[in-house]
Amino acid sequence: MIEMQNVYKTYPNGVKAINGISIKINQGEFAYIVGPSGAGKSTFIKMMYREEKPSSGNIIVNGANVAKIKDSRVPIFRRHIGVVFQDFKLLPKLTVYENIAFALEVIEQSPEEIKKRVLEVLELVKLKGKIDSFPDELSGGEQQRVSIARSIVNSPKVVIADEPTGNLDPETSWEIMDIFEEINKRGTTILMATHNREIVNTIRKRVIAIENGNVVRDEVRGEYGYEG
Ligand code: ADP
Ligand code: ADP
Repeated sequence: MIEMQNVYKTYPNGVKAINGISIKINQGEFAYIVGPSGAGKSTFIKMMYREEKPSSGNIIVNGANVAKIKDSRVPIFRRHIGVVFQDFKLLPKLTVYENIAFALEVIEQSPEEIKKRVLEVLELVKLKGKIDSFPDELSGGEQQRVSIARSIVNSPKVVIADEPTGNLDPETSWEIMDIFEEINKRGTTILMATHNREIVNTIRKRVIAIENGNVVRDEVRGEYGYEG
């Protein structure tokens, strides 16, 4: 479960990015975060995995108060949250296998367990054939599938995605959405910031619209609601 209680975020330069958001997202939900550029979507998302700290208010993720976690505990907290980015953020000198295994190796799993888990997630994203490829040998869609595999390899309760289809063509974007839907069907909460109107209006899910750092709309099976 994710809960924000009266959350504010002012950046050091004085920009008020989030202005008093309270919201609950239950385990297993799929929610889109929409809104114009500069509305506060990325800040909202970054606070959930402690990339940014709120200036005030509470953010509870998987039972932990994110704002209060000590810096030294942040890496441990993040193992239970998968994060997917618009620009994939794969390690260029590691193969597909190594990029995914890396996330597991840090928690001292046995080589057999690592291999089993990596193959399982590669199966889910249908990329077993590219296991020894390097990121620059893959298409954008394939790189995003690797990054999704990496995000779920520790079986997190929550996957957070910031514009995951932002760099992909429409057809590839639909394939990526199929994977997120499959992950969600298995019980993982998905929180996705997106500008993709067609996807939001077709794969109907909860829509949380943010404008000027506030939630202005929250609908169970919502629409994108913006032009373009
Ligand atoms: P980020 O949230 O990743 O910091 P932005 O939200 O500003 O970045 O924008 C992400 C991408 O989406 C950019 O390429 C931007 O040009 C594009 N974009 C921004 N606003 C819209 C919009 N209303 N509709 C479609 N695309 C948009
Ligand atoms: P969105 O993702 O909806 O485009 P952001 O959360 O990126 O919105 O930005 C919200 C506001 O906070 C914008 O005015 C943006 O310029 C500002 N902002 C974002 N990141 C920072 C930062 N690191 N320092 C200062 N201002 C920031």
